[in-house]
Amino acid sequence: MPAKGSLSVICGPMFSGKSRELIRVVHIAEIAGQRTALFKPRIDTRYSHTDIASHDGIRKQAQSVDTAREILPVLARHTSLPEVIAIDEGQFFDRGITAVCLWLVDRGRRVVVAGLDRNFRGEPFGSMPELLACADEVVKLRAVCMRCKDPRVTAVLPQRMIDGRPAPYDSPEVMVGGADFYEARCLDCHEVPGKPDISTLVQGVLVDEPNHSFAPWTVNPGAG
Ligand code: ADP
Ligand code: MG
Ligand code: ZN
Repeated sequence: MPAKGSLSVICGPMFSGKSRELIRVVHIAEIAGQRTALFKPRIDTRYSHTDIASHDGIRKQAQSVDTAREILPVLARHTSLPEVIAIDEGQFFDRGITAVCLWLVDRGRRVVVAGLDRNFRGEPFGSMPELLACADEVVKLRAVCMRCKDPRVTAVLPQRMIDGRPAPYDSPEVMVGGADFYEARCLDCHEVPGKPDISTLVQGVLVDEPNHSFAPWTVNPGAG
């Protein structure tokens, strides 16, 4: 094994196959005779308290932890540090998750984290931006948009639905659920009532920075 390991991040919306891919990576590592450890945040009890499970029923036993730091004492109980450490639902972990992953990489371990890169609002989710920035390898998966069903598999965002209607922007960031609350949707079909309009946001950027170099047709208020 090389002196340094690696950090891979598997991201994408719900139903894009992140958990399936994470379980596959661990399964293949085990066939190659490597020792593995799987973790998930205790908050995620959708299918099981002890397993990582995909939406299509593939399961693998995992350790549930409340915080990122808890991962280290659990690993210390192994006779030696496993070669592959896999973590699901990375977005639910505290900011300590990046340091824990990089410490394992420093010890030559292969670390694989799966998680939602963006929340139901379409904004970066929790510690995922740091993990993505530090990753040696990033895989962004997509799902079938459950509204337009485009066969090109275009869904990149989780759509939260409450009582059959899109959840508003001020709905809490974390709400654990599966198909009962979430769909996968493409950018055209994603709906977040009350979300600040991107042209309003860009106007704010331009007011703070008058010497902008944007082309005028992108800043014409009311256009597009
Ligand atoms: P994730 O961890 O990204 O939420 P999973 O690995 O748990 O995804 O589940 C992936 C599986 O979900 C697919 O293999 C497929 O059987 C199922 N699935 C359900 N809805 C969709 C969808 N809209 N697009 C793609 N796969 C879907
Ligand atoms: Mg999953
Ligand atoms: Zn769509």
